[in-house]
Amino acid sequence: MAIPSRKTSTRLQKTPIQEKLLYFYERGHAEGSPSRRDLLGNKGAGLAEMAVLEVPVPPGFTISTRACKIFEEGGGRLPLSLEKDIEEYLHRLEKVTGTGLGDPGKPLLVSVRSGAAVSMPGMMDTILNVGLNDETVEGLARNTNNPRFAYDCYRRLIVMFAATVRGVDKDKFEHHLAALKKKRKAEADSQLEASDIIKLVDQFKKVYRQELKEDFPQDVWEQLRQSRDAVFRSWNSRRAIEYRRLYNIPGDLGTAVNVVSMVFGNMGEDSGTGVGFTRDPASGANVFYGEFLANAQGEDVVAGIRTPRPLAELETVMPEVYKDLRRVTRKLEQYKRDVQDFEFTIQKGQLYLLQTRTGKRTGFAALRIAVDMCNEGIITPEEAVMRVDCDQLQAILHPVFDPQKRSAFKVVARGLNASPGAACGKVIFDPDEAVRMAEKGERVILVRPETSADDVHGMARAQGILTCKGGFTSHAAVVARQMGKPSVVGCETIDVREEDGVFVANGVQVHHGEFISIDGQTGEVMVGSVPLRESSIILALRGELAPDALQPYLYYSTFMEWVDSFRRLSVRANADIGRDAKIAIQMGAEGIGLCRTEHMFFAEDRLPAVREMILAETEEERRVALRKLLPFQIQDFVDLFEAMGGLPVTIRTIDPPLHEFLPPREELEAQISRAKDAKARGRAAKLLERVHSLSEMNPMMGHRGCRLGITYPEITEMQAEAIFEAAIQSAAKTGKMPVPEVMIPLVSKTSEYIHQRDIVNRVANAVFHRRGRRIPYRVGTMIETPRAALISESLSEHAEFYSFGTNDLTQLTFGFSRDDAGKFISHYLKSGIMTEDPFVTIDQEGVGQLIEMTVRNSRKGGRSIKVGICGEQGGEEKSVGFCHRAGLDYVSCSPFRIPVARLAAAQAALKEARPK
Ligand code: PEP
Ligand code: MG
Repeated sequence: MAIPSRKTSTRLQKTPIQEKLLYFYERGHAEGSPSRRDLLGNKGAGLAEMAVLEVPVPPGFTISTRACKIFEEGGGRLPLSLEKDIEEYLHRLEKVTGTGLGDPGKPLLVSVRSGAAVSMPGMMDTILNVGLNDETVEGLARNTNNPRFAYDCYRRLIVMFAATVRGVDKDKFEHHLAALKKKRKAEADSQLEASDIIKLVDQFKKVYRQELKEDFPQDVWEQLRQSRDAVFRSWNSRRAIEYRRLYNIPGDLGTAVNVVSMVFGNMGEDSGTGVGFTRDPASGANVFYGEFLANAQGEDVVAGIRTPRPLAELETVMPEVYKDLRRVTRKLEQYKRDVQDFEFTIQKGQLYLLQTRTGKRTGFAALRIAVDMCNEGIITPEEAVMRVDCDQLQAILHPVFDPQKRSAFKVVARGLNASPGAACGKVIFDPDEAVRMAEKGERVILVRPETSADDVHGMARAQGILTCKGGFTSHAAVVARQMGKPSVVGCETIDVREEDGVFVANGVQVHHGEFISIDGQTGEVMVGSVPLRESSIILALRGELAPDALQPYLYYSTFMEWVDSFRRLSVRANADIGRDAKIAIQMGAEGIGLCRTEHMFFAEDRLPAVREMILAETEEERRVALRKLLPFQIQDFVDLFEAMGGLPVTIRTIDPPLHEFLPPREELEAQISRAKDAKARGRAAKLLERVHSLSEMNPMMGHRGCRLGITYPEITEMQAEAIFEAAIQSAAKTGKMPVPEVMIPLVSKTSEYIHQRDIVNRVANAVFHRRGRRIPYRVGTMIETPRAALISESLSEHAEFYSFGTNDLTQLTFGFSRDDAGKFISHYLKSGIMTEDPFVTIDQEGVGQLIEMTVRNSRKGGRSIKVGICGEQGGEEKSVGFCHRAGLDYVSCSPFRIPVARLAAAQAALKEARPK
């Protein structure tokens, strides 16, 4: 839809503004504080910093992010006083550059570029070559003695202005260019003659008039104003809003606008443009890394339209420029103490830096860069620990393709290995469809000729991304790395024919909906779904060192040593069996925070005894069944104690409602109708009758938790006996003293807890007496009901530890069924009623209050009760941070989340220690 032009000069607001909104910079000097990213935006701050560091930058000025707010509040207009100030700053830029905006003798051309405080790659708009009209283009042609170049700039401005500022579809112009190239048999734009481009400009002006019913603005000030306003408006474009939603970026930050004098990379073969990183953002290796295109302008490299050349080749093409580039970018990395992602232009052999910012990187690159920079003395171990996100750490523990099995799959294409990781999914060409499929639970790979900011929503939901065009710094590569998703880009042997629903790779047709696998580590594309294997770090932790694992493992273990030295929270595992407990130890667990004993009851060899216990009609019968279970439970606990050595093992007594151990009603009904003899029918009928009698309207709020142990004390007795007998056996066998902690679930009243505790103590004494040996142990309770939290002060006089069962505590605090809430929580999240799922991350506002209150009350009078958490949230980054601040002693989570929980705990401690 075309956007109407706004003649701003006639409809200006009159209120003068006091605060400083404009910041000028030129090499050697910058106004204001470059560190104020909140005001200057990332790009503006980077330019100002580079100017101060004497890095060659084209002079310009930044209109601050605050002006974006003023623009929004003014209904899309700036106040008159600010318009005047901008004019003044523009005159200052004219003075510094010795040119004039609209002066055909010496025309000043500027770029108008967006730049928010948080980097949002490709999300907002940029307009280059502002200041060209029919007269100044002639001036530029004369001054450069290069009409081809001047008109090439002009045609780019017309398209960018029409598309970005006025909302005209770019294709309306581009097909004229494509037709011309075809006619001239030209592969690249640069092969077109000056006369061709002059004609093309005329054609573009006609298209502009046709589409917008007015001429392309010859008033260069009007060009500048409209471009600036378009950049401000782009802050609220659909794609920018979507991106902010994805990354939790607040909507009120606003974008700054940078007005920068133009330098040109398209002035011939001694000119060019490129982007790079001071270290490899995919592997983290300390190598200079990037791409460039000779004789090209602006966004050509990142747009992924022409596949650029590796930066290393610049050394041969322009050795002096290359040396300069290495020198200044090294200086920038040293100064910023982090990897820099930079953009540069070479104008007739002279280097200019146009942007520098912290480089986005993959998970493993983050880890390696942090460790290397610390070892190189650039950053401290504390900073290194803060430099790796929890998501990045999680990504390096993700599975990879199984090398043994992948050879059975045909590699149909090979592209650039832009973002590592293994991904399989169905081929989908359209980002909207990718979202729809993912919502249905399908795994998809988004396959596109190239990606742009409009595709981000689809990329976010895909398992991986495959593109035909673009290099390591193309949009697809940068965004995939940021999202931690595998991507293969610039796969030029692939031809995407979306309209036919296929892509063709080296003669092989791959259809829409067919499964493919992409390897972001090698750049390979395979047809079919290649089986996965554990990540090499996980294998190394297990002692199964794969040949490719040593280096990643060494980085990982050094990093995790630093992590552990800073955290206060201890990290335990939720593990029920010996095998999981061993993995937990390999992941760094310092104990078991929750063993759900009922999981042992589900095993096939125990179910008959469990069912016998449930069907028992008298206590006597029940005890007979429990005797059968006892040896199993003893062995289970021996395994756990042995795996954990002398570390604490928290064992929870039975928790779920008993009907969960019986077959579903429908299955029993079917069994009855199919039964061949009266005995089998009778057995099934009895079970069905018991299922009926145990059925509850709200089983989650019914006969479960300690309520079971109170109505059937013999179950608690059997479990306590198994725990203490196992502890004695394990101590005798290993020589290590186990640390059992018996935990009573779903308590609401102190008397409930005391009832169960007394059983545990009585059984412990009996076992110790019989075996002639004592094992130290603790008895404590879970805080899973709001009432338990409310009475935690008096409860703590009797319990030796607390563990927050935040699954139930969340369920009961909200009154949301943990089994059914998914249905409406997804709607709540979409509509903004909730920003986060409270079953994933602790609801700090509500449930968090109960946790804080419990910790406070239970430690009154200097009592030192140990407090932990074992709900699912215990392994989630933000929840771990909250638990640290709330003063918990430990978090407990599933074994594979332990590394992330350790990192989150260290980062929370370091954040707290930071000077405010
Ligand atoms: C909890 O409620 O948070 C908990 C750990 O117990 P479960 O999930 O077994 O109910
Ligand atoms: Mg629970």
